[in-house]
Amino acid sequence: MRLKSIELSGFKSFAKKTELEFASAITSIVGPNGSGKSNIAESFRFALGEQSMKSMRGRRGEDMIWNGSQNSPRAGRASVKLIFDNADRALALDFDEVVIERVVNRDGTNQYLLNSSEVRLRDVAELLAQANIGSSSHHIISQGEADRALSASPRERREMLEDALGLTSFLYKRQEAKRKLEKTAENSQKVESLRRELAPHLRFLAGQVKKIEDSQKLRDDLGQKYLEYLKRESVYLRIQKSLAKEERDAPEKEHALLNQTIAHLRSVLEKKREDSETNELMRLESEMHGAAGRRDALVRELGRIEGELAAEARMVPVPSKEASVPSGEVRTFVERVEQELDAALKGSESEIKNTLLGLVVFAQEFLRRIATRGEIAHKPAVSHEELLEKKTRLENELQEIQKKEGSLRAEVSVLRLQIEGEKDENRSAERELFVAMSRRSELEVALARLEARAQALVEDEARFKAECGEAAALMGRAVMEYENTVLYAQSGDMVTDADMVDEDRTVQGERRRKLERQKIRLEEAGLGSASEILKEHQETLERDQFLARELNDLAASAESLNGLIDELTGTLEARFVGGIEKINVAFNSFFQVMFGGGSASLALVAEKKKTRGAKSAALDTEDGGYFEVKGEGDKGGSEENGDEEDEDKEEGVEITVSLPHKRLKGLHALSGGERALTSIALIFAMSQVNPPPFLILDETDAALDEANSRRYGDMIETLARHSQLILITHNRETMSRAGVLYGVTMGSDGVSKLLSVKFEEALAVAK
Ligand code: ATP
Repeated sequence: MRLKSIELSGFKSFAKKTELEFASAITSIVGPNGSGKSNIAESFRFALGEQSMKSMRGRRGEDMIWNGSQNSPRAGRASVKLIFDNADRALALDFDEVVIERVVNRDGTNQYLLNSSEVRLRDVAELLAQANIGSSSHHIISQGEADRALSASPRERREMLEDALGLTSFLYKRQEAKRKLEKTAENSQKVESLRRELAPHLRFLAGQVKKIEDSQKLRDDLGQKYLEYLKRESVYLRIQKSLAKEERDAPEKEHALLNQTIAHLRSVLEKKREDSETNELMRLESEMHGAAGRRDALVRELGRIEGELAAEARMVPVPSKEASVPSGEVRTFVERVEQELDAALKGSESEIKNTLLGLVVFAQEFLRRIATRGEIAHKPAVSHEELLEKKTRLENELQEIQKKEGSLRAEVSVLRLQIEGEKDENRSAERELFVAMSRRSELEVALARLEARAQALVEDEARFKAECGEAAALMGRAVMEYENTVLYAQSGDMVTDADMVDEDRTVQGERRRKLERQKIRLEEAGLGSASEILKEHQETLERDQFLARELNDLAASAESLNGLIDELTGTLEARFVGGIEKINVAFNSFFQVMFGGGSASLALVAEKKKTRGAKSAALDTEDGGYFEVKGEGDKGGSEENGDEEDEDKEEGVEITVSLPHKRLKGLHALSGGERALTSIALIFAMSQVNPPPFLILDETDAALDEANSRRYGDMIETLARHSQLILITHNRETMSRAGVLYGVTMGSDGVSKLLSVKFEEALAVAK
């Protein structure tokens, strides 16, 4: 990496755009007092990000901007560009040329640009640190700062040395790591406090969730209970209903049949009463009586006729009222009686009775006829033939009538028997009717009972339907799946429909009561905003878990940051100690060259513990970067700061010198020139051990006498092998070593102008 040029626009006295090229290893800038040379040195500081306005002889950013003169108006902004050749990629940017630019505006705002892209100050600082251009500006020695290395506090000196040894980037890294660690600790605290704040709410929510889960369990259990209850109830009702129907079936049929039977029996009994058989019997009996009357009359008539005939033929008059009876007649009478009895004895009892009655009448007729025979003996007789004829006629008629009578009697007796039989039949019909009716009322009682049961079942069903509706409203449709529910007894066996029907109803009643009780408990638990609580709990829990993870992450990153810090500290220590040793050797050697003997050395000294804040502050810049700057005007001596914060093992660096031929030792014993020489020796030693890309020395050589100026010139040439040197000088010896000479002039307009000058021209401003 090589510094190609610097370009100033509106910076301090450089009102117009001015470019200095650094084509040579040593460039000298010469010019009269007040022409603006030091402004060039400061423009380097400015471009590299210097935050201390004081170190650039200003009070604020605006002081860096061309302030105008009579002829030239003031500028609105100051800009300084440093142009590097980056072919070797010493700056970690993939560009052959890197332009670092800083702009300050009148309002005090700053912009930092890398190859025209705006970046943070921090980016610039880190980029430069890689190329060993640290922030302590050990490579820019301003006017009057020649003995800076000596006047600095041990602590500042250490920083200067660290910077010179190229440890700045490690320091940055370490500081960054510490910053992150602090941030991590802060974040951890924040997260912890968030978790603490969250904890009671989370506990509360967890309690609520527990309640909700309990309720949910209760609810699930209620759902199960409902399923069982409804299943059992539905099965019970279904089977009971069909049983009731079946049970009604037979009695209903029987009842219907009985109704028919009863109606039939009744009609049978009704009909019997108005039956005509009795009438027929009466008619037959009266006809029979008629026939008997007629027969009697015929017998009487026949008897009279026979009497007349007998009288006619009487040979003997009848002495008394008694008449004689022809023997033939008696024989006929007896034969007839015998005949009829014979016939009657073959028949039924009533026939015998009737026959006997008929015979009685017949016997009476016979006696009457005999009695009347005596009376008619004296009456005039009808002709004998007429009598015989009449007798034959009457006998025929009698025979007819007797026949009729016999048949009528038989008919009557048959009818009587029939009527008698029918009377028996009626009695059995009445009996049957009685039995049927009593059976029917029995059945009606049973049917009424069955009806009541059916009615109860209907009511049960209505109640069951209402329960189903209630269950569905409370538990959702799932509970309506009860039909598909399979129940298991405690034994593990499946509960069958039959088991359910056989179960004691009080058990189901108890189930129902349990359901009701559980419903009340559930209502009391109040699941109203459950889903919201669950959601909130879940969210809060997730947040808490997230915070816990974040805490873990933070702890892990704190651990790795601590590791990094330790590692960086180790590296820094090792490099610093090694670097100091090398610088010591070079310092001693430069010192001896300068003073022609004697000795000088650096020694690490442990300073009292103190805060960095007392001497330096982490400055947060407006672009979010930070930059560590030394406390202005602080020249050490803050050891009295009683802050006990341990600043690691950071130690200061003391300088010990021993001048040749002098007894006095210690820096305080040096003259101004000796101090400048010692300081230069140290600066050169640092630059030699770890050469910076460029070194700007603003009249560092001002206090040197001729002999020392030569030695100084020699040393410059040595350094120029590794670093570009930009020397602001009035020293002719120094000018003589430069490859390029720039002259700075300032006209009456107060504007600095640049011109290339020859060594001879330069001598005009040399001392
Ligand atoms: P010497 O040789 O005496 O050290 P020099 O060449 O280093 O002098 P500088 O100190 O660089 O001179 O220049 C100072 C000049 O710059 C002064 O004239 C001062 O007025 C001018 N100057 C400083 N700041 C501004 C500014 N903001 N606007 C205009 N001019 C400025």
